[in-house]
Amino acid sequence: MDKIIKLNDEIELDIVDLGDAGEGIGKYENFAVFVEDTVPGDKVLVKITKAKKSFAKGQVIKLIKESELRQDAPCKYFEDCGGCQIQNIKYENQLKLKENKVSNIIKRIGGFTGVEINPIIGMENSFRYRNKGAFVVSKIDGKVVIGLYKKKSHEVIPVDDCLIQDEKVKDILEGVKKHIIKFDVKVYNRKNNSGLVRNVVVRKSEATGEYMVIIVTNGSKLPMSKVLAKTLVEGNDKIVSVYQNINKKHSSEILGEDSKLLFGQEKIIDEIDGLKFEISPLSFYQVNSVQTEKLYKKALEYCNLSREELVIDLYSGIGTISLLLAREAKEVIGIESVKPAVVDARQNAKINNIENARFMRAKAEDKLPELVKDGFKPEVIVLDPPRVGCDKKVLDAILEVKPEKIVYVSCKPSTLARDLKILCESGEYTLEEVTPVDMFGHSAHVETVVKLIKA
Ligand code: SAH
Repeated sequence: MDKIIKLNDEIELDIVDLGDAGEGIGKYENFAVFVEDTVPGDKVLVKITKAKKSFAKGQVIKLIKESELRQDAPCKYFEDCGGCQIQNIKYENQLKLKENKVSNIIKRIGGFTGVEINPIIGMENSFRYRNKGAFVVSKIDGKVVIGLYKKKSHEVIPVDDCLIQDEKVKDILEGVKKHIIKFDVKVYNRKNNSGLVRNVVVRKSEATGEYMVIIVTNGSKLPMSKVLAKTLVEGNDKIVSVYQNINKKHSSEILGEDSKLLFGQEKIIDEIDGLKFEISPLSFYQVNSVQTEKLYKKALEYCNLSREELVIDLYSGIGTISLLLAREAKEVIGIESVKPAVVDARQNAKINNIENARFMRAKAEDKLPELVKDGFKPEVIVLDPPRVGCDKKVLDAILEVKPEKIVYVSCKPSTLARDLKILCESGEYTLEEVTPVDMFGHSAHVETVVKLIKA
Protein backbone atom coordinates (compact mmCIF):
# COMPACT_ATOMS: atom_id res chain seq x y z
CA MET A 1 0.00 0.00 0.00
CA ASP A 2 1.23 3.50 -0.76
CA LYS A 3 2.25 5.59 2.19
CA ILE A 4 -0.24 8.33 3.03
CA ILE A 5 2.64 10.75 3.39
CA LYS A 6 5.91 10.69 1.49
CA LEU A 7 9.22 12.48 1.96
CA ASN A 8 9.19 16.08 0.67
CA ASP A 9 5.38 16.16 0.43
CA GLU A 10 3.96 19.57 1.27
CA ILE A 11 0.80 19.39 3.32
CA GLU A 12 -1.48 21.69 5.25
CA LEU A 13 -1.87 20.69 8.84
CA ASP A 14 -3.80 21.65 11.96
CA ILE A 15 -1.63 21.26 15.04
CA VAL A 16 -3.78 19.52 17.66
CA ASP A 17 -1.47 18.25 20.40
CA LEU A 18 1.82 18.74 22.19
CA GLY A 19 4.60 16.13 21.91
CA ASP A 20 6.93 14.99 24.69
CA ALA A 21 9.69 17.35 23.57
CA GLY A 22 7.34 20.32 23.25
CA GLU A 23 6.87 19.97 19.50
CA GLY A 24 3.44 20.31 17.90
CA ILE A 25 1.59 17.25 16.62
CA GLY A 26 -0.71 17.46 13.63
CA LYS A 27 -3.00 14.74 12.35
CA TYR A 28 -3.12 13.99 8.62
CA GLU A 29 -5.90 11.47 7.98
CA ASN A 30 -5.25 10.13 11.49
CA PHE A 31 -1.54 9.92 10.86
CA ALA A 32 0.65 11.77 13.39
CA VAL A 33 3.01 14.39 12.03
CA PHE A 34 5.48 15.95 14.48
CA VAL A 35 6.36 19.55 13.70
CA GLU A 36 8.87 21.60 15.68
CA ASP A 37 8.24 25.26 16.46
CA THR A 38 4.47 24.87 16.31
CA VAL A 39 1.81 25.17 18.98
CA PRO A 40 -1.57 23.41 19.26
CA GLY A 41 -4.08 25.60 17.45
CA ASP A 42 -1.65 26.62 14.68
CA LYS A 43 -2.50 25.97 11.04
CA VAL A 44 0.68 25.38 9.05
CA LEU A 45 2.05 24.38 5.70
CA VAL A 46 4.79 21.80 6.31
CA LYS A 47 7.31 19.93 4.23
CA ILE A 48 7.73 16.29 5.26
CA THR A 49 11.31 15.61 6.38
CA LYS A 50 10.80 12.05 7.62
CA ALA A 51 8.13 9.53 6.65
CA LYS A 52 7.93 6.37 8.72
CA LYS A 53 5.31 3.63 8.92
CA SER A 54 3.55 5.00 11.96
CA PHE A 55 4.49 8.69 12.03
CA ALA A 56 6.10 11.50 10.10
CA LYS A 57 8.10 14.65 10.82
CA GLY A 58 7.64 17.93 9.07
CA GLN A 59 9.20 21.38 8.91
CA VAL A 60 7.15 24.56 8.80
CA ILE A 61 7.20 26.34 5.49
CA LYS A 62 4.47 28.78 6.35
CA LEU A 63 2.43 29.63 9.42
CA ILE A 64 -1.03 29.98 7.90
CA LYS A 65 -2.87 30.79 11.13
CA GLU A 66 -1.39 31.47 14.55
CA SER A 67 -2.82 29.64 17.55
CA GLU A 68 -4.63 31.69 20.15
CA LEU A 69 -2.60 29.87 22.80
CA ARG A 70 0.56 31.62 21.67
CA GLN A 71 2.36 34.47 23.34
CA ASP A 72 5.69 36.18 22.79
CA ALA A 73 8.12 34.26 24.98
CA PRO A 74 9.19 36.48 27.90
CA CYS A 75 12.77 35.23 27.69
CA LYS A 76 14.93 36.78 25.00
CA TYR A 77 16.88 33.54 24.53
CA PHE A 78 13.83 31.36 23.94
CA GLU A 79 14.24 30.91 20.17
CA ASP A 80 17.78 29.56 20.51
CA CYS A 81 18.08 28.11 24.01
CA GLY A 82 17.56 24.41 24.63
CA GLY A 83 16.19 24.98 28.14
CA CYS A 84 12.49 25.82 27.81
CA GLN A 85 10.38 24.41 24.99
CA ILE A 86 6.96 26.00 25.35
CA GLN A 87 7.51 29.50 26.75
CA ASN A 88 5.69 30.74 23.62
CA ILE A 89 2.46 29.30 25.06
CA LYS A 90 0.65 31.27 27.78
CA TYR A 91 1.13 29.55 31.14
CA GLU A 92 -2.56 28.86 31.74
CA ASN A 93 -2.71 27.24 28.30
CA GLN A 94 0.41 25.19 29.04
CA LEU A 95 -1.41 23.82 32.07
CA LYS A 96 -4.52 22.98 30.09
CA LEU A 97 -2.45 21.22 27.42
CA LYS A 98 -0.61 19.16 30.03
CA GLU A 99 -3.87 18.21 31.72
CA ASN A 100 -5.36 17.15 28.37
CA LYS A 101 -2.26 15.19 27.53
CA VAL A 102 -2.51 13.13 30.73
CA SER A 103 -6.24 12.65 30.20
CA ASN A 104 -5.84 11.54 26.55
CA ILE A 105 -3.02 9.13 27.28
CA ILE A 106 -4.79 7.56 30.26
CA LYS A 107 -7.74 6.94 27.95
CA ARG A 108 -5.90 5.94 24.78
CA ILE A 109 -3.05 3.82 26.18
CA GLY A 110 -4.58 2.83 29.51
CA GLY A 111 -8.05 2.19 28.14
CA PHE A 112 -9.67 4.02 31.07
CA THR A 113 -12.65 5.74 29.52
CA GLY A 114 -14.74 6.59 32.55
CA VAL A 115 -12.05 8.14 34.76
CA GLU A 116 -12.25 11.85 35.60
CA ILE A 117 -8.86 13.55 35.68
CA ASN A 118 -8.55 16.14 38.46
CA PRO A 119 -7.49 19.67 37.50
CA ILE A 120 -3.72 20.02 37.18
CA ILE A 121 -1.91 21.54 40.16
CA GLY A 122 -0.10 24.48 38.56
CA MET A 123 2.52 26.86 39.89
CA GLU A 124 1.71 30.20 41.40
CA ASN A 125 4.87 31.63 39.88
CA SER A 126 5.84 29.92 36.69
CA PHE A 127 9.23 31.67 36.54
CA ARG A 128 12.22 31.58 38.93
CA TYR A 129 11.18 28.15 40.22
CA ARG A 130 14.35 26.09 39.86
CA ASN A 131 16.54 25.42 42.89
CA LYS A 132 19.41 24.18 40.73
CA GLY A 133 21.05 25.55 37.62
CA ALA A 134 23.96 24.15 35.66
CA PHE A 135 25.68 26.56 33.30
CA VAL A 136 28.37 26.02 30.72
CA VAL A 137 31.62 28.01 30.65
CA SER A 138 33.07 28.52 27.20
CA LYS A 139 34.88 30.94 24.90
CA ILE A 140 33.33 32.57 21.89
CA ASP A 141 35.65 34.56 19.61
CA GLY A 142 38.21 34.66 22.39
CA LYS A 143 35.74 36.01 24.97
CA VAL A 144 34.76 34.16 28.13
CA VAL A 145 31.04 33.36 28.22
CA ILE A 146 28.76 31.52 30.65
CA GLY A 147 25.49 30.24 29.31
CA LEU A 148 23.38 27.33 28.18
CA TYR A 149 23.41 24.98 25.23
CA LYS A 150 21.60 25.91 22.09
CA LYS A 151 18.71 23.61 21.11
CA LYS A 152 19.98 20.19 20.01
CA SER A 153 23.58 21.36 19.95
CA HIS A 154 26.73 21.76 21.98
CA GLU A 155 27.07 25.35 20.94
CA VAL A 156 26.89 27.66 23.95
CA ILE A 157 24.73 30.75 23.99
CA PRO A 158 25.71 33.37 26.56
CA VAL A 159 22.83 33.84 29.00
CA ASP A 160 22.97 36.72 31.46
CA ASP A 161 19.67 35.88 33.15
CA CYS A 162 17.70 32.64 32.90
CA LEU A 163 14.10 33.38 33.86
CA ILE A 164 13.38 29.99 35.42
CA GLN A 165 16.38 30.38 37.73
CA ASP A 166 16.64 32.31 40.94
CA GLU A 167 17.28 36.03 40.44
CA LYS A 168 20.61 36.00 42.25
CA VAL A 169 22.10 33.39 39.96
CA LYS A 170 23.05 35.96 37.34
CA ASP A 171 25.27 37.85 39.78
CA ILE A 172 26.96 34.62 40.85
CA LEU A 173 27.71 33.75 37.21
CA GLU A 174 28.98 37.27 36.58
CA GLY A 175 31.27 36.95 39.61
CA VAL A 176 32.76 33.70 38.30
CA LYS A 177 33.22 35.18 34.84
CA LYS A 178 35.05 38.24 36.20
CA HIS A 179 37.38 35.98 38.17
CA ILE A 180 38.18 33.88 35.12
CA ILE A 181 39.02 37.01 33.12
CA LYS A 182 40.95 38.77 35.90
CA PHE A 183 43.21 35.82 36.67
CA ASP A 184 43.32 34.55 33.12
CA VAL A 185 42.01 31.14 34.17
CA LYS A 186 41.81 28.65 31.30
CA VAL A 187 38.38 27.80 30.00
CA TYR A 188 37.49 24.20 29.11
CA ASN A 189 37.42 23.25 25.45
CA ARG A 190 34.82 20.55 24.80
CA LYS A 191 36.29 19.51 21.48
CA ASN A 192 39.65 18.31 22.73
CA ASN A 193 39.09 18.01 26.51
CA SER A 194 41.65 20.74 27.26
CA GLY A 195 41.48 23.83 29.45
CA LEU A 196 40.08 24.06 32.96
CA VAL A 197 36.76 25.63 34.01
CA ARG A 198 33.85 23.62 32.59
CA ASN A 199 30.64 24.52 34.42
CA VAL A 200 29.13 26.54 37.20
CA VAL A 201 26.37 24.85 39.18
CA VAL A 202 24.26 26.81 41.66
CA ARG A 203 21.95 25.09 44.16
CA LYS A 204 19.60 26.84 46.52
CA SER A 205 17.61 25.87 49.57
CA GLU A 206 14.11 27.27 49.19
CA ALA A 207 13.61 26.98 52.94
CA THR A 208 16.66 28.92 54.09
CA GLY A 209 17.45 31.00 50.98
CA GLU A 210 21.04 29.72 51.13
CA TYR A 211 23.15 28.93 48.09
CA MET A 212 25.83 26.41 47.21
CA VAL A 213 28.10 27.28 44.29
CA ILE A 214 30.06 24.55 42.51
CA ILE A 215 32.84 25.35 40.05
CA VAL A 216 33.49 22.32 37.86
CA THR A 217 37.03 21.94 36.57
CA ASN A 218 38.92 19.60 34.30
CA GLY A 219 41.80 19.23 36.76
CA SER A 220 42.50 19.66 40.44
CA LYS A 221 44.25 23.06 40.43
CA LEU A 222 42.02 26.11 40.22
CA PRO A 223 44.10 29.32 40.34
CA MET A 224 43.20 31.68 43.18
CA SER A 225 40.28 29.43 44.16
CA LYS A 226 40.05 30.80 47.71
CA VAL A 227 39.96 34.35 46.34
CA LEU A 228 37.12 33.33 44.03
CA ALA A 229 35.15 31.84 46.93
CA LYS A 230 35.77 34.95 49.04
CA THR A 231 34.69 37.28 46.25
CA LEU A 232 31.50 35.33 45.64
CA VAL A 233 30.59 35.29 49.32
CA GLU A 234 31.33 38.98 49.70
CA GLY A 235 28.94 39.65 46.83
CA ASN A 236 26.15 37.54 48.36
CA ASP A 237 26.13 36.65 52.04
CA LYS A 238 23.57 33.90 51.40
CA ILE A 239 26.27 31.84 49.68
CA VAL A 240 27.21 29.49 52.50
CA SER A 241 29.03 26.81 50.56
CA VAL A 242 31.49 26.97 47.66
CA TYR A 243 32.94 23.86 46.07
CA GLN A 244 35.31 22.93 43.34
CA ASN A 245 34.23 19.73 41.62
CA ILE A 246 36.73 17.86 39.50
CA ASN A 247 35.56 16.23 36.31
CA LYS A 248 38.24 15.11 33.85
CA LYS A 249 35.93 12.99 31.75
CA HIS A 250 35.50 13.85 28.10
CA SER A 251 31.73 13.50 28.25
CA SER A 252 28.59 15.55 28.66
CA GLU A 253 28.23 14.61 32.33
CA ILE A 254 28.46 17.79 34.36
CA LEU A 255 29.82 16.67 37.71
CA GLY A 256 32.73 14.39 38.51
CA GLU A 257 33.03 12.25 41.62
CA ASP A 258 35.49 14.43 43.58
CA SER A 259 34.43 17.64 45.27
CA LYS A 260 36.72 19.97 47.22
CA LEU A 261 35.14 22.38 49.70
CA LEU A 262 36.59 25.86 49.12
CA PHE A 263 34.47 27.74 51.61
CA GLY A 264 31.82 27.23 54.28
CA GLN A 265 29.41 24.38 54.87
CA GLU A 266 29.56 20.93 53.31
CA LYS A 267 25.82 20.90 52.79
CA ILE A 268 22.80 23.12 52.50
CA ILE A 269 19.49 22.00 53.92
CA ASP A 270 16.08 22.30 52.33
CA GLU A 271 12.73 21.44 53.87
CA ILE A 272 9.66 19.68 52.55
CA ASP A 273 6.62 19.81 54.78
CA GLY A 274 8.77 20.32 57.88
CA LEU A 275 11.29 17.58 57.11
CA LYS A 276 14.90 18.44 56.44
CA PHE A 277 16.86 17.20 53.44
CA GLU A 278 20.60 17.60 53.05
CA ILE A 279 21.89 18.71 49.69
CA SER A 280 25.54 18.12 48.79
CA PRO A 281 27.11 18.74 45.36
CA LEU A 282 26.25 15.28 44.06
CA SER A 283 22.88 14.62 45.73
CA PHE A 284 19.82 14.18 43.62
CA TYR A 285 17.06 16.54 44.68
CA GLN A 286 13.86 17.59 42.95
CA VAL A 287 14.49 20.94 41.23
CA ASN A 288 11.19 22.59 42.07
CA SER A 289 10.84 22.62 45.86
CA VAL A 290 7.45 24.34 45.97
CA GLN A 291 5.69 21.96 43.57
CA THR A 292 7.48 18.92 45.00
CA GLU A 293 5.81 19.59 48.33
CA LYS A 294 2.41 19.80 46.63
CA LEU A 295 3.02 16.58 44.69
CA TYR A 296 4.15 14.64 47.74
CA LYS A 297 1.28 15.94 49.85
CA LYS A 298 -1.14 14.69 47.22
CA ALA A 299 0.58 11.28 47.27
CA LEU A 300 0.32 11.27 51.07
CA GLU A 301 -3.35 12.21 50.94
CA TYR A 302 -3.95 9.28 48.56
CA CYS A 303 -2.22 6.92 51.01
CA ASN A 304 -4.48 8.10 53.85
CA LEU A 305 -2.39 6.38 56.52
CA SER A 306 -3.27 5.74 60.16
CA ARG A 307 0.08 4.76 61.72
CA GLU A 308 -0.84 1.09 61.45
CA GLU A 309 0.52 0.32 58.02
CA LEU A 310 3.61 -1.16 56.47
CA VAL A 311 4.36 0.91 53.37
CA ILE A 312 6.83 0.01 50.65
CA ASP A 313 8.19 2.99 48.71
CA LEU A 314 9.72 1.79 45.44
CA TYR A 315 12.32 3.95 43.63
CA SER A 316 12.77 5.95 46.81
CA GLY A 317 15.71 8.19 45.76
CA ILE A 318 17.05 10.17 48.73
CA GLY A 319 14.04 9.11 50.79
CA THR A 320 11.84 12.17 50.41
CA ILE A 321 8.50 10.40 49.98
CA SER A 322 9.49 7.57 52.35
CA LEU A 323 10.23 9.94 55.22
CA LEU A 324 7.02 11.89 54.75
CA LEU A 325 5.17 8.55 54.77
CA ALA A 326 7.03 7.38 57.87
CA ARG A 327 5.42 10.12 59.99
CA GLU A 328 2.02 8.60 59.25
CA ALA A 329 2.80 4.88 58.92
CA LYS A 330 3.96 2.11 61.22
CA GLU A 331 6.93 1.28 59.06
CA VAL A 332 8.32 2.28 55.68
CA ILE A 333 10.74 0.36 53.50
CA GLY A 334 12.36 2.37 50.72
CA ILE A 335 13.91 0.54 47.78
CA GLU A 336 16.39 2.36 45.56
CA SER A 337 19.12 1.11 43.21
CA VAL A 338 21.61 3.99 43.39
CA LYS A 339 24.00 3.73 46.32
CA PRO A 340 24.69 7.43 47.05
CA ALA A 341 20.92 8.07 47.05
CA VAL A 342 20.44 5.31 49.64
CA VAL A 343 23.26 6.78 51.75
CA ASP A 344 21.54 10.21 51.57
CA ALA A 345 18.17 8.66 52.44
CA ARG A 346 19.59 7.03 55.59
CA GLN A 347 21.26 10.29 56.59
CA ASN A 348 18.01 12.20 55.99
CA ALA A 349 16.15 9.74 58.24
CA LYS A 350 18.77 10.37 60.91
CA ILE A 351 18.66 14.18 60.87
CA ASN A 352 14.87 14.05 61.11
CA ASN A 353 14.97 11.50 63.96
CA ILE A 354 12.89 9.07 61.95
CA GLU A 355 13.38 5.52 63.12
CA ASN A 356 10.59 3.67 61.36
CA ALA A 357 12.01 4.00 57.84
CA ARG A 358 14.72 1.80 56.40
CA PHE A 359 16.29 1.79 52.99
CA MET A 360 17.43 -1.10 50.87
CA ARG A 361 19.82 -0.73 47.98
CA ALA A 362 18.43 -2.96 45.25
CA LYS A 363 16.55 -2.95 42.02
CA ALA A 364 12.83 -2.81 42.66
CA GLU A 365 12.28 -5.71 40.24
CA ASP A 366 14.62 -7.91 42.29
CA LYS A 367 13.79 -6.78 45.81
CA LEU A 368 10.01 -6.57 45.78
CA PRO A 369 9.47 -10.18 44.60
CA GLU A 370 11.98 -11.25 47.26
CA LEU A 371 10.16 -9.37 50.04
CA VAL A 372 6.84 -10.81 48.90
CA LYS A 373 8.32 -14.31 48.98
CA ASP A 374 9.62 -13.63 52.50
CA GLY A 375 6.09 -12.85 53.66
CA PHE A 376 6.10 -9.03 53.82
CA LYS A 377 2.49 -7.81 53.50
CA PRO A 378 2.46 -4.03 52.86
CA GLU A 379 -0.91 -2.32 53.17
CA VAL A 380 0.24 0.40 50.77
CA ILE A 381 2.77 0.48 47.94
CA VAL A 382 4.05 3.80 46.62
CA LEU A 383 6.02 3.91 43.37
CA ASP A 384 7.90 6.72 41.68
CA PRO A 385 9.85 5.08 38.82
CA PRO A 386 12.02 6.79 36.21
CA ARG A 387 10.58 7.61 32.77
CA VAL A 388 10.67 3.99 31.55
CA GLY A 389 8.09 3.06 34.18
CA CYS A 390 8.04 -0.27 36.03
CA ASP A 391 9.56 -3.57 35.11
CA LYS A 392 6.83 -6.20 34.61
CA LYS A 393 8.29 -8.14 37.59
CA VAL A 394 7.44 -5.21 39.86
CA LEU A 395 3.82 -5.16 38.67
CA ASP A 396 3.53 -8.95 39.02
CA ALA A 397 4.87 -8.80 42.58
CA ILE A 398 2.39 -6.03 43.44
CA LEU A 399 -0.46 -8.12 42.07
CA GLU A 400 0.73 -11.06 44.11
CA VAL A 401 0.97 -9.22 47.43
CA LYS A 402 -2.20 -7.17 46.79
CA PRO A 403 -1.80 -4.05 48.95
CA GLU A 404 -4.98 -2.15 49.89
CA LYS A 405 -3.76 0.88 47.96
CA ILE A 406 -1.25 1.69 45.30
CA VAL A 407 -0.06 5.27 44.82
CA TYR A 408 1.90 5.78 41.62
CA VAL A 409 3.90 8.97 40.99
CA SER A 410 5.02 9.27 37.38
CA CYS A 411 7.06 11.62 35.22
CA LYS A 412 5.89 10.05 31.96
CA PRO A 413 2.17 9.65 31.22
CA SER A 414 2.58 6.94 28.56
CA THR A 415 4.48 4.49 30.76
CA LEU A 416 2.15 5.31 33.64
CA ALA A 417 -0.88 4.45 31.50
CA ARG A 418 0.76 1.23 30.29
CA ASP A 419 1.49 0.12 33.88
CA LEU A 420 -1.96 1.12 35.19
CA LYS A 421 -3.55 -0.95 32.45
CA ILE A 422 -1.65 -4.04 33.60
CA LEU A 423 -2.58 -3.45 37.24
CA CYS A 424 -6.28 -2.88 36.52
CA GLU A 425 -6.74 -5.51 33.79
CA SER A 426 -6.05 -8.07 36.48
CA GLY A 427 -9.43 -7.15 37.93
CA GLU A 428 -7.77 -6.56 41.32
CA TYR A 429 -7.58 -2.75 41.19
CA THR A 430 -9.66 0.25 40.22
CA LEU A 431 -8.17 3.57 39.16
CA GLU A 432 -9.73 6.00 41.60
CA GLU A 433 -7.93 9.33 41.21
CA VAL A 434 -5.56 10.97 38.77
CA THR A 435 -3.96 14.36 39.45
CA PRO A 436 -1.42 15.96 37.11
CA VAL A 437 1.11 18.32 38.72
CA ASP A 438 3.24 20.88 36.91
CA MET A 439 6.80 20.65 38.19
CA PHE A 440 8.51 22.18 35.16
CA GLY A 441 6.77 25.26 33.82
CA HIS A 442 7.67 26.16 30.20
CA SER A 443 8.84 22.63 29.46
CA ALA A 444 6.59 19.92 28.04
CA HIS A 445 7.04 17.60 31.03
CA VAL A 446 4.20 16.75 33.33
CA GLU A 447 4.14 14.79 36.56
CA THR A 448 1.12 12.74 37.60
CA VAL A 449 0.04 11.11 40.84
CA VAL A 450 -2.64 8.42 40.87
CA LYS A 451 -4.44 6.30 43.40
CA LEU A 452 -5.53 2.72 42.86
CA ILE A 453 -7.73 0.88 45.31
CA LYS A 454 -8.72 -2.75 45.57
CA ALA A 455 -11.57 -3.53 43.19
N1 SAH B 1 10.99 9.18 44.90
C1 SAH B 1 12.21 9.92 44.70
C2 SAH B 1 13.01 9.55 43.45
C3 SAH B 1 12.25 9.34 42.19
S1 SAH B 1 13.26 9.33 40.77
C4 SAH B 1 11.95 11.41 44.72
O1 SAH B 1 10.82 11.86 44.59
O2 SAH B 1 12.89 12.17 44.88
C5 SAH B 1 13.41 7.60 40.43
C6 SAH B 1 14.43 6.89 41.28
O3 SAH B 1 14.43 5.53 40.89
C7 SAH B 1 15.85 7.38 41.12
O4 SAH B 1 16.36 7.66 42.40
C8 SAH B 1 16.59 6.19 40.50
O5 SAH B 1 17.91 6.08 40.95
C9 SAH B 1 15.76 5.03 40.95
N2 SAH B 1 15.78 3.80 40.14
C10 SAH B 1 15.90 3.69 38.79
N3 SAH B 1 15.74 2.43 38.41
C11 SAH B 1 15.51 1.69 39.54
C12 SAH B 1 15.26 0.31 39.78
N4 SAH B 1 15.20 -0.56 38.79
N5 SAH B 1 15.04 -0.08 41.05
C13 SAH B 1 15.08 0.82 42.07
N6 SAH B 1 15.34 2.13 41.89
C14 SAH B 1 15.54 2.57 40.65
